[in-house]
Amino acid sequence: MARGQEKKNVKKLSEVLLRDKTSGPKKAGEKGMKKAEKFAEGYKAFLNAAKTERESVDFSVKAAEKQGFVPFDPNRHYQPGDKVYYNNRGKAICLAVIGKKGASEGVRIAAAHIDNPRIDLKPIPLYESNELALLKTHYYGGIKKYQWTAIPLSMHGKIVRKDGSEITVCLGEKPGEPQFTITDILPHLGKDQMAKKLSDAFTGEDLNILAGSLPYDSEEGADLYKLNIMKILNDRYGIVEEDLISAEISFVPAFQAVDIGFDRSMIGAYGHDDRVCAYPALEAILSCKAPEKTAVVCLADKEEIGSVGNTGLASEYLRYFVADLAESEGLSPRRVWSLSSCLSADVTAAFDPTYAGAYEPQNSCYLNRGVGVAKYTGSRGKSGSNDASAEFLGWVRSVLDKAGVIWQIGELGKVDQGGGGTVALDVSRLNADVIDIGVPVLSMHAPFEVVSKLDVYMTYLGVKAYFEAK
Ligand code: MN
Ligand code: MN
Repeated sequence: MARGQEKKNVKKLSEVLLRDKTSGPKKAGEKGMKKAEKFAEGYKAFLNAAKTERESVDFSVKAAEKQGFVPFDPNRHYQPGDKVYYNNRGKAICLAVIGKKGASEGVRIAAAHIDNPRIDLKPIPLYESNELALLKTHYYGGIKKYQWTAIPLSMHGKIVRKDGSEITVCLGEKPGEPQFTITDILPHLGKDQMAKKLSDAFTGEDLNILAGSLPYDSEEGADLYKLNIMKILNDRYGIVEEDLISAEISFVPAFQAVDIGFDRSMIGAYGHDDRVCAYPALEAILSCKAPEKTAVVCLADKEEIGSVGNTGLASEYLRYFVADLAESEGLSPRRVWSLSSCLSADVTAAFDPTYAGAYEPQNSCYLNRGVGVAKYTGSRGKSGSNDASAEFLGWVRSVLDKAGVIWQIGELGKVDQGGGGTVALDVSRLNADVIDIGVPVLSMHAPFEVVSKLDVYMTYLGVKAYFEAK
């Protein structure tokens, strides 16, 4: 072939040989963008209704029961299309739709987490100081502390009284309810703080919640500011100070989920990480009819502190749930696990032009390019990474493409810039094939994170395609 001929065909040649660079919104078309918009409304309602792992489990149980899911009974034999769930202590949940082949050729799992970075109360939180009532806290997960001051906070959680009775609390979410905040020093007097390194400027012990400013109305007695708050808590919840020892109270941003941008293409909210993957996974299994292989969704707790504890995925409950599914069909759990696969559905970093230096632009995920796939996570030389096999990634790729799912591949950021991990490791330990997929996020772990509506919808379509694949 003469050189001139080659040149003539360069457009065609590029189309065949080079990666398709058509933008996500163009690929989705007007119809796809409308569907994403509609899906985002459901997601925003979930964000506002479920800000903690407990609230996410409650939401999931209600939604699942509406679709005919029933509590899993390991002693029963299930039929294709049967829908079951296992509620682990109200903080994590596994849901399954039994496939036509049951678990005989392995199960298909999508795992996401429903805990988010937040500010927890200490066991003895309440104190008064210089005519204010305050609450001592211990932050949960990886936060930049300065971001959590001077914003409105709401209170969520559970208190167990001495007699064993339980109280669920949620204050500061409904219009008209009081909210809370952590104070910061005014710039006028901020000389000492401003001279410090950002990492030292705010300490964990500075994150004290402003709880009140009025003393109990009395001429006598001490600690009247503290007493006044305790009296209000006693009137409202019937608790005494000691009951706060057996409590899990979290303060989270009181913001509601909103559209971001003149084009309303994005959603700003607290706790996208990782409810932005949990919700699409939940919706995917709720809409799942009778797949070939049994489909499983696990919404886990404690990912933000290392997946520890009996509700985190380093615990064995997912392993046992799948083992019970296997045994109810007379199958070897070990064999079923070795044939199973898992989408570890967790957020990834979206390329942020303001902080471009932290990313490698060619291998980053971008807003609106669809669900992000990551072969590996980890830090330094891929340390602490699952590193999915080329074979499994190849299969996932073909499943997404066949179903018309818009997706992208990317790493978290520049090599040696930092790193992160997901529950992929915990599931891969069970001898299943695992890959990380998820929604790219701007301002990850900040009290207010941003995602694109199209990417959320594509994550739903991606999980759905995975469940429905032959
Ligand atoms: Mn996450
Ligand atoms: Mn996280």
